[in-house]
Amino acid sequence: MIDITSLFKVTYGLYIVCSGNETKGNGYISNTFFQVTSEPPKFALCCNKNNFTSEIIEKHGFFSVSVLHQKANSEIFGRFGYKSGRDFNKMEGMLIKYGISGIPIVLNESIAYLECKVVQKFDVGTHWLFIGELIDAQVLDETNDPMTYAYFHQVRKGVAPKNAPTYIDQAKLATKVKSVKLEKFKCTICGHIYDENKEKIKFASLAANWKCPICGADKKEFIVI
Ligand code: FE
Repeated sequence: MIDITSLFKVTYGLYIVCSGNETKGNGYISNTFFQVTSEPPKFALCCNKNNFTSEIIEKHGFFSVSVLHQKANSEIFGRFGYKSGRDFNKMEGMLIKYGISGIPIVLNESIAYLECKVVQKFDVGTHWLFIGELIDAQVLDETNDPMTYAYFHQVRKGVAPKNAPTYIDQAKLATKVKSVKLEKFKCTICGHIYDENKEKIKFASLAANWKCPICGADKKEFIVI
């Protein structure tokens, strides 16, 4: 029998992946990015076929990867992790550098970036697996540690969006988690659950300017579940 909670023991980083150009760029948060060869340095990126960024990577043939740090502002996860670039311009107001291929690279909340040229693409069902050869890379910040998926889950209490390759249905997971049923509130932007039983503070008692710790959404974006 498969214990799906074991999937949380597999480690990943968290990155902003972008493609496009100065006129139209887009990005999303990915945890499925990793190095596959060293000579030449090549990386694998798994991206949902429905992701707007996936279409843009296919069109431009390049992608950038910004390595997020552990203390990264929650709003960056709200902007790139839980919203679609089809609905609004995620790049607006961001600190952007254009790479040697002309694609946008997000510098906010990042400690390094990599720029890759797509050299292969594999159909893995719901997702494309892009293989990218490294064409440029820079370190931006030596003082902060990279964010890991485990840290995001365990310390920042983040949840994976539905398009993530590692998304786990919370209903399936619920049978594995023992908790007293008190009032819970769900962020309608990112899906983060505020559980009064765990937090020990009533949701109604939180300050009016309290924000979702994951995506930075206002209190009014939460609904009772
Ligand atoms: Fe949220």
